[in-house]
Amino acid sequence: MIDFHCHLDLFPRPAAVVSEVEAAGIYLLSVTTTPKAFAKTARLPTKSSRIRTALGLHPQLVHERHQEVDLFCRLISETRYVGEIGLDGGNEFARHLDLQNEVFNRLLRSCSDAGGKILSIHSRHASGEVLEALKQYPGCGIPILHWFTGPIRDAERAVELGAWFSVGLPMLRSKRAGSLLAKIPRERILTETDAPFASTKGHSYPREALSSAFAELAKHWKCEPEDVKQQLLGNLRRVVETNRPAGTDVAVSEGRLTTQSANRYCPATPRR
Ligand code: MN
Repeated sequence: MIDFHCHLDLFPRPAAVVSEVEAAGIYLLSVTTTPKAFAKTARLPTKSSRIRTALGLHPQLVHERHQEVDLFCRLISETRYVGEIGLDGGNEFARHLDLQNEVFNRLLRSCSDAGGKILSIHSRHASGEVLEALKQYPGCGIPILHWFTGPIRDAERAVELGAWFSVGLPMLRSKRAGSLLAKIPRERILTETDAPFASTKGHSYPREALSSAFAELAKHWKCEPEDVKQQLLGNLRRVVETNRPAGTDVAVSEGRLTTQSANRYCPATPRR
């Protein structure tokens, strides 16, 4: 199973969740909300883990944490994955949109200067602005729109821009799931939980939310859950290999992802 947007570090007991995820063999993108959280979060997975850690600066925190942009730019070479970044135009955060835009653009430029990353992107109530920014930085890498709730027209534009989507259970069970999925090629979809914020009851990892997401996709795509699994594993392999920097060895074979140096962070050297 694949969870391409999960906040491992925000669970009450991250280490227990990591053990559970590792034992279940889940491919997981562990996103962070501030650059300061990256080093510690990157130390959570074990060596043979299928967990990768992303460097992020959450748009809802930008007005408080924008001083950490420099740290983000210094850490960018430590990982191939970026997130959670983006824009949030919701009621409480719309007044910070100018600052959010300035920061988002700087982060995208940093990704672009670093040769492109795999990015998990927040676009709540701001999908149009997010797409405008992505258009300015075509070299930023592969944008993956997480929990997309924007207009269908923006989903189409995102597809035209080459964006991917990570979809979770709340979205797949929403009224508009059908019309949205009709616009997104199957080749551009990954699953996510956004745990512990969504789909989670209690303190443990919401595995059932992932298997239910597979079942929902099978319904929408009119195929078997096993076909969904193969499709998503193929997608994961493609997204990882497309963005592979020279000198790393990454392969998903028979459902197993093996990496030699896919995540080139140095967890032992947090910088301040
Ligand atoms: Mn999130």
